[in-house]
Amino acid sequence: MIEQSILEITSELSTANNIVIVPHKGPDGDAIGSSLGLYHFLKGKGHFVNVIAPNDYPDFLKWLPGQENILNFEKCQEDCKKLILEADIIFTLDFNVLSRAGDMHTTLEEAEATFIMIDHHPEPADYADHIYSDTTMSSTCQMVYQFIEKLRAVKSITPEIATCLYTGIMTDTGSFRFRSTTSTTHRVIAALIDKGADNTLIHQMIYDTYSANRMQLLGVALQNLRVNKELRTAYITLSQEELDTNNFKKGDTEGFVNYGLALEGIIFAAIFIEHKADGIIKMSLRSKGSFSVNDFSRAHFEGGGHVNAAGGKSDLSLEDTVIKFNSVLNKYSEQLKG
Ligand code: 5GP
Ligand code: MN
Repeated sequence: MIEQSILEITSELSTANNIVIVPHKGPDGDAIGSSLGLYHFLKGKGHFVNVIAPNDYPDFLKWLPGQENILNFEKCQEDCKKLILEADIIFTLDFNVLSRAGDMHTTLEEAEATFIMIDHHPEPADYADHIYSDTTMSSTCQMVYQFIEKLRAVKSITPEIATCLYTGIMTDTGSFRFRSTTSTTHRVIAALIDKGADNTLIHQMIYDTYSANRMQLLGVALQNLRVNKELRTAYITLSQEELDTNNFKKGDTEGFVNYGLALEGIIFAAIFIEHKADGIIKMSLRSKGSFSVNDFSRAHFEGGGHVNAAGGKSDLSLEDTVIKFNSVLNKYSEQLKG
């Protein structure tokens, strides 16, 4: 983000009353963590701030400081629309195209506010007045820290802000192990611990929260794991029936896809999850090295994301989605074979 933008944002912030912060649909730890971190920061500066999420988010995030104030667009559309249309500044966090805000995108398109995008996904659209986009960043939470740094306001980081930002960096880096984790990421993390983030407690609150049902569902997922050794690919399926039997709750399948990548020699992992109510199969894709699941998903499964982590969907049945996946996979055999 260039210095000129920072000067303009500083001046716009000095007169802005109403600020809205929007994470992407199906918000994850980074989307909610960055939204709440920025929320606390801006509230501390005296603004009237609202975080409006396009839909609900997983229970394992429902302890973060300030999360009780997040508005769910699906539950209070009229109030949310009013806030969006009356906003002076709208921050969009952790996404690169307005369609990632789900049904909220039409209201966002009508809004006259100054838009500020903070995001680390490739190929950002140009809807925002100020774009802080950097695909080399581990997470949007790291970028919010660096944004606060650019505003020369690191002194204002409270334990609440530190907790929210630490959480998103931790979840988006797979606890500091993905390639996007740099020495700068660790410096930011160190600063956040100094500012009051309780790293041990945060790790426990996010990861040690399995219900018995969720653990059983993981068992089913692992039973369903299939491996294509030649193409160094592994995938998991979960049908609606399997989800129902194990009393599925939002967030329960988070991280399951990574088990495929933990297999020796596997560089591409996928999970296919049936959503009967929406008539779609939602998929998560992960890779190691240069194989781009972002390209793979954009080309075949109406999705996208990063080089090593992306999502997508299919309107076919679960069975047919797997058939399509396997046939598409063969087209990538050059890249996937060892
Ligand atoms: P996850 O598999 O955890 O849902 O998502 C992995 C990454 O891909 C995240 O960065 C997420 O924002 C992105 N992503 C997930 N689903 C979609 C999608 O349908 N479209 C696009 N463009 N990105 C997605
Ligand atoms: Mn992110």
